[in-house]
Formats: sequence, C-alpha cells, structure tokens
Amino acid sequence: MREGLKEKKRIVIKVGTSTITHNESGGLDYVKLEKLVRTLTNLQNQGKEIVLVSSGSIAVGRKAIGLGKKPTERSQKQACAAIGQSRLMMVYQKLFSEYNQMIAQILMTKFTIVDDSSRHNAQNTFRALLDMGVVPIVNENDTVATDELDVGDNDSLSAVVAALVKADLLILLSDIDGLYTDDPNHDKEAELIPYVESISDEQLEMAKGPFTGHGTGGMITKLTAAGIANDAGADMIIINGGRIDNLTKVLNGAEMGTFFKAHKTKHFHLKNYIDSK
Ligand code: GLU
Repeated sequence: MREGLKEKKRIVIKVGTSTITHNESGGLDYVKLEKLVRTLTNLQNQGKEIVLVSSGSIAVGRKAIGLGKKPTERSQKQACAAIGQSRLMMVYQKLFSEYNQMIAQILMTKFTIVDDSSRHNAQNTFRALLDMGVVPIVNENDTVATDELDVGDNDSLSAVVAALVKADLLILLSDIDGLYTDDPNHDKEAELIPYVESISDEQLEMAKGPFTGHGTGGMITKLTAAGIANDAGADMIIINGGRIDNLTKVLNGAEMGTFFKAHKTKHFHLKNYIDSK
C-alpha cells in the first residue's frame, strides 16, 4: 500500500500553523517554508498536481501587529486574518517564484460547498488551475466567515478540498507523528497506529483529547478529515511536519505516519458532510 503512494497523481497537502511557524515566537519559519516550497515544486515537476492548504493567516497577522496573545474575539481574529493572509501569500509568492512556479489563492467558506453554484464554480476553478499547472493555495476566508459559515479548521477544509478536486491523496503535515493508541503527551506506552482501515468508536473517543501549539485542530479534526476524504475516495496520511523531507519520504513509500484507507462511498455528496458539521 505504501509503495502505491508513488503513483498518486493529484495530491492535497495541508500545513498547519504549528508546522510553518516557530513554536516560541509564533513568527514564520522561513527555512521550513523554503523547503516546503521546493519540495512542492519538485513534486509538480514530477508531473503531479498539487494543492496546498495553508493555515497561518491569523498567526502571521497577530505577529505583524504585535498582539501578544492569541486573539479570542471574532472581530480581532478576523482582523488578524485579513492582515496575515496577504502577508502569507506574499511569502509564498516570493518563494514559489524563485522556482518559476505559478500559484493562486483560493479562499473558501462553508457557503462555497453548500451552495450548488458556488461549489461548481469552485470545482471548475480548481480544475482550470490544475490544468494550467498552477499550485492553488487554499485557506478559509476567515475575514468574512461567521459562526454559521465557517468550516472552522483547516483539517476538515483540506478534506473538503480533496473531495472537491477528486484528489487521490490527502497529506496532513502535523505536529504529531500520526494517530496513537492514546495521547502520547500523557501516556508513555501510547503506540503509533500505522494503518486505519476504518475509524473505530474507540479511536474517536481517544481523539477528543487535548491538543497543543498554535494550531486550531486536534486529533478529532484529523479523524473528521479522514472520514470525508476516505468516503470521497482519497487515501489520507498524517505525518509529522517537523521535517519537511518526511513529505518526500512518505511519497517514496517510507513507513511513517498513519495511513487512512479510502473506501469510496457510493452516493458520496460533499454537501451532506459539511451541512451536518
Ligand atoms: N484558517 C486559519 C488561519 O489561517 C487556521 C485554521 C486552522 O489552522 O485549522 O489562521
């Protein structure tokens, strides 16, 4: 199964805020970002189609205006996202252009999925961009989203994107090695689960545990993502984004992280998944 990863053609890759920022200061980790961009461009050059789902707008905005604490009020978060998103894209633009790789920004809300014409438009736009050899960079449109309209976390958003573009594979670069039998921060005996055929109730229960860092999701949002991606027909892998070369390794068949197997649901309809969230 791991060997089969070499053949994956259309891949959605999600990086969390904790993967692209320094843990202590919350500032962008340019060294990692450079490696990420080089790796993604290289995959594109191998003939793969890449979509990047990147978090970080709120953290970047917050850092730019010197806000010490993570904003809790919606208007503050939205203001930080508005400031941060363009700065984040500026960095991606600069780094990708060094390799002459075109990128595009796509900002979505839940509405993009539940509204039929919006969803079709988004799907067509993704298709056109991929046909042009462009790497779309996706985030939630945090600045305009409301409680009713936001997907809320980029793990779920990346699975929605994987379903929308009919990806073969979704890779979540996380601050953890994968899914464990228990929370490894608290249980030293916890073991990494390398393969999940279908998510059990026990795993769901365990995933509700605490989470760390600058990110939004915990393990539970990753299991939600696996539910969407797998039903849509995409395999999903969680790997540790601490080292960007894990991305190349896992795509060359290395045994790492947790692999969630696709099991395409016959009447899969993305709208139903997002409506119930
Ligand atoms: N959309 C948020 C941001 O870019 C992050 C959401 C998430 O990390 O799940 O800051």
